[in-house]
Amino acid sequence: MYRKRKESDTWHWCRNCNNWPTSGYEEKNSKPTTGEFCNECQAKTKERNCRK
Ligand SMILES: [Zn+2]
Repeated sequence: MYRKRKESDTWHWCRNCNNWPTSGYEEKNSKPTTGEFCNECQAKTKERNCRK
């Protein structure tokens, strides 16, 4: 599940990301084809510390 804030172009997919949107967001089930991917979510995935 991918989420981004409506006013932002950055997608998040880790619930434990500090910037995980909890309101005013868009949600997608598949990997988005537009926008940016969150650096923190990428780091968490690398460290296998990403809670989905
Ligand atoms: Zn993130």
